[in-house]
Amino acid sequence: MQKTYNPTWDLDVIFPGGSESEEFYTYLSDNEKEIEKLAAEVARFSAEQPDTIEILAIIVKQLEKITKKTREASAFVSCLSAQDVNDSKAGLLVAKNNEFKAKMDAIQTSLQQKFIQIDEARWNDILQSDALEEVSFVLNESREKGKERLSVSEEVLINDLEVDGYHAWSQMYDTIVGKMQVEIEEDGKVNSYSVGQASNKIVNPDRGVRKHVFTQLSKAWKENADLFGQTLNHLAGFRLQKYRHRDWEDILKEPLAMNRMKKDTLDAMWTAITNNKKYFVEFLNKKAELLGLEKLSMYDISAPISKSVTKVPYSKGADFIVEQFGKFSSKMADFAKMAFEKRWIEAEDRTGKRPGGFCTSFPDSEQTRIFMTYSGTSSNIATLAHELGHAYHQHVMNDVNGLNQRYAMNVAETASTFAELIVADATVESAQNKEEKLALLEDKIQRSVAFFMNIHSRFLFETQFYEERKQGMVPADRLNELMIEAQKEAYSNTLDEYDENFWSSKLHFHITGVPFYNFPYTFGYLFSLGIYAAAKERGNAFEDEYISLLRDTGRMNVEDLAKKHLNVDLTTPDFWEAAIALCVADVEEFLTMANTGTEIK
Ligand SMILES: [Zn+2]
Repeated sequence: MQKTYNPTWDLDVIFPGGSESEEFYTYLSDNEKEIEKLAAEVARFSAEQPDTIEILAIIVKQLEKITKKTREASAFVSCLSAQDVNDSKAGLLVAKNNEFKAKMDAIQTSLQQKFIQIDEARWNDILQSDALEEVSFVLNESREKGKERLSVSEEVLINDLEVDGYHAWSQMYDTIVGKMQVEIEEDGKVNSYSVGQASNKIVNPDRGVRKHVFTQLSKAWKENADLFGQTLNHLAGFRLQKYRHRDWEDILKEPLAMNRMKKDTLDAMWTAITNNKKYFVEFLNKKAELLGLEKLSMYDISAPISKSVTKVPYSKGADFIVEQFGKFSSKMADFAKMAFEKRWIEAEDRTGKRPGGFCTSFPDSEQTRIFMTYSGTSSNIATLAHELGHAYHQHVMNDVNGLNQRYAMNVAETASTFAELIVADATVESAQNKEEKLALLEDKIQRSVAFFMNIHSRFLFETQFYEERKQGMVPADRLNELMIEAQKEAYSNTLDEYDENFWSSKLHFHITGVPFYNFPYTFGYLFSLGIYAAAKERGNAFEDEYISLLRDTGRMNVEDLAKKHLNVDLTTPDFWEAAIALCVADVEEFLTMANTGTEIK
């Protein structure tokens, strides 16, 4: 019998009472006291003391505790504001939480500055001591960062100003988007939808519907283009001012450091992708032909090639994911089942929710929560699997030192895309007939198109936008132009209609936590493909190897991680070419099937 899962999440087990939760307010003020204690310890710490190692060990313990608590609080607040964009109390908590983060940043800045005072030989002794060896990578990383920063007082000032400057612009963006309504005509009636709901409707077999939804969405974004032009320009301006004062020339300096990767690695990845674009152009052209079109437009790319769109109810989708995970790893399957049963997922299709999906960790309670809007499409199932991959990553790290749990986005996207791949591949293999197989294969290739073309367009746009922003405000019209230029290049000029509003509709350009919220996705995709190939080769033995790789993601740079667990060099195109070859094989299979008389109705 079909088991039924509740599609709303349970936040009360973490803190009861939502944004009014007294337990949560107590938790916040406890954490505030802990932060004060830490600040005092850091102030006391100096390189001249004979007991430097002992004091630093105390600081590290305290830092670990607060890091967990701050992440926990931050996760709760983002869940509250995502589930109900009109929850004004949650909005206040976002601001409160940003103050905490600023305080922590200030303390860490001052600690970094003290690290710099320590000479190299003494520093190496400290890192090799029993008490600190476990966290030596993150301590050293912090010291290296410290060398690149301004004085403590200047950095503290920047941090404080970020709360109501930098981060506030991003918050403002969320508020405006949450209030937007998109009017869509259905069966002769005009219905009003949130942006998230309307965006889900664009994947429709009927081109008329797709075009209508795209037009209405574009209209809604265009109406607010002046506001989003402001939020984006000011957010970017703030970032650039900070870089300028620190003498950082390259806009990629910070995102690369955050992702613990080398520029050579990024270049090798994009080079390999660019060299293989022709296969995906061929795919898009074939798809246009199958849809009876001369050329595809942006809103046709994700259109189903088969008209029989099966909508899968939430509980059935959940069972499917658990089953597919089980073929690879019983631990992953058990974890996913538990997440559905314990209601770690908010998937209900309703108004007033923030668009998009995310997974957030509560490291203190050792839980995670997933947020998305599930309407039963195959891409919803993929998103769900994706977010569960993130959740599993956190799960295997629960007992790792809190300071070694902070993995960067590029490797964070590894576990998620790995989970997504398992589900997508198993789906293709389980196809009942040729038409279904072709449709499922197509759905899988969509991922490569997204990572190699769509994400590439975001990377190209941001690179160019930030260059122009250095000279001053970039007007909305110019942002439109830049967006289209980037899309044309990334899609090798193969589309008919592009999406000039994408710079405002894509939340990721407006995120302040992580700059360049794009290339790490592509990295994660290709990196996970490499892991996937290894997993297929090694069978059951791989489960534990995979877990040990994930557990290392917070304590080494990606080049070392790849060397240690996969024995590959990420700075040369070879690894990337090999991973892309797996995607090209899908395209070739698709083209062969499509060219050998498979009827598409
Ligand atoms: Zn993700």
